[in-house]
Amino acid sequence: MIRVENLVGGEFVTPDEFFDDISPLDNSVIAKIPRTKNVDDAVNAAKAALPIWSGLTIEERCVWLDKIANALELQIEEVARLESLDTGKPYSVALDVDANRSVNNFRFFAEFGRSLKSETFEMADATNYVIRKPIGVVGLISPWNLPLYLLSWKIAPALLMGNTVIAKPSEITPLTAHFLGRICTDIGLPDGVLNIVNGYGPEVGQAIVEHPEIKAISFTGGTATGKIVAATAAPMFKKLSLELGGKNSSIVLQDADLDIAVPGVLRASFLNSGQICLCGSRVLVHSSIYDEFMAKYLHELQDFEIGPVISEEHRSKVMSYIELAKQEGGEVLAGGCIPDKAGAWIDATVISGLSHTSRTATEEIFGPVVTVHSFETEQEAIEMANCTQYGLAGSVWSKSRGRQVAEKIESGMVWVNTWLHRDLRVPFGGVKDSGVGREGGLWSIGFFSEAVNICVMED
Ligand code: NAD
Repeated sequence: MIRVENLVGGEFVTPDEFFDDISPLDNSVIAKIPRTKNVDDAVNAAKAALPIWSGLTIEERCVWLDKIANALELQIEEVARLESLDTGKPYSVALDVDANRSVNNFRFFAEFGRSLKSETFEMADATNYVIRKPIGVVGLISPWNLPLYLLSWKIAPALLMGNTVIAKPSEITPLTAHFLGRICTDIGLPDGVLNIVNGYGPEVGQAIVEHPEIKAISFTGGTATGKIVAATAAPMFKKLSLELGGKNSSIVLQDADLDIAVPGVLRASFLNSGQICLCGSRVLVHSSIYDEFMAKYLHELQDFEIGPVISEEHRSKVMSYIELAKQEGGEVLAGGCIPDKAGAWIDATVISGLSHTSRTATEEIFGPVVTVHSFETEQEAIEMANCTQYGLAGSVWSKSRGRQVAEKIESGMVWVNTWLHRDLRVPFGGVKDSGVGREGGLWSIGFFSEAVNICVMED
């Protein structure tokens, strides 16, 4: 049994109360999680560490990020094992998507920090130059679907820019954040630079957002929670980055290469049991190739390995959408059932026959459930893709018209003939109810620093 502890000021500490961490693989209790309600100690530790950490040069902080990346990489199998245990995802996915990309987040921001150029703006009689100051203590809150990957995506740039951190992993999946804390103390990261607190969102998460000494909040999670975070933080004029929910479309045009499109759309549908905010849970297929596409898609689905969803509670939500789909007139082409075994398993489910404006086809389910729809014209496909409240991501599959269609999708990110192909320098984030702000590359640098202009009059 793992006992998760908070990391505060370089010490592992626990409040009196704990709750269970349950593996969705078989519903066994795998860890005890501290139920923290107050973040004052963590904030004090982070404040005390600020002068030392912000006093380092950016090159020195890059060296620390590399040290974290190297130490994490040495234990990459353990990271993947813990992530797989905690989330239920297959080990291969945990290794490829979670563990490797977590290492890359630290390594990328170390390299990126070294490549930052000074920003100057010459006038006829004066020179402006920009310095980037740390914001101070920042709060980082992440969800359960890609636990360490999404938390390290925030921790790395926050540390790079000289901030000290209060990080809160999801209460459902705290194991790898705890492991990262151990690694950081093992390599001697100065005390208080990275603090990790555990507990329920409305308690410890809310305490982070409310704390007056925490100057910025980077939040990834659901849209409903994002509204609460925004309502709390906005009157305090905190810097706020919100990466929220999605309901993304994979658009398969008439001239798509089905040898690429079918496995690509399938991966976008069901990787991580559909529990990635970027997953394409609405598949829009041109009517002329619909039958051929669907035959191949359903055939290849039979060999696609998925894990359980995150919890039995979440499975109930997913199942309720499958019931709703039936009421809305949908036909279940595959899946729709709960396999006969312990854990939060659910078959990969494909539903046709629904209106693209139905609730099933427009609300975020965040599970292995996909609706398929056919269209006649590009314009119709674009309108179908844009009809939800969300605007996070999408993909277009075509030999010739991908870019033209991609540019008309109201989303922060659109892939053409690929999906989840990530360059960490590019902006990452959503429009509409999928969020506010962008992370990645220069956007993360901008978020985690205060840009100050100094204007020097020439003699
Ligand atoms: P969630 O909103 O329930 O929780 C996210 C985090 O917020 C957790 O750590 C939780 O403890 C915390 N939290 C809850 N209430 C809080 C409060 N009042 N104040 C502060 N923190 C609080 O989301 P989830 O169920 O963990 O994750 C699934 C959601 O995340 C989906 O909607 C998915 O689309 C979204 N997501 C978005 C992205 C993105 O980059 N846009 C990435 C991954 C997941």
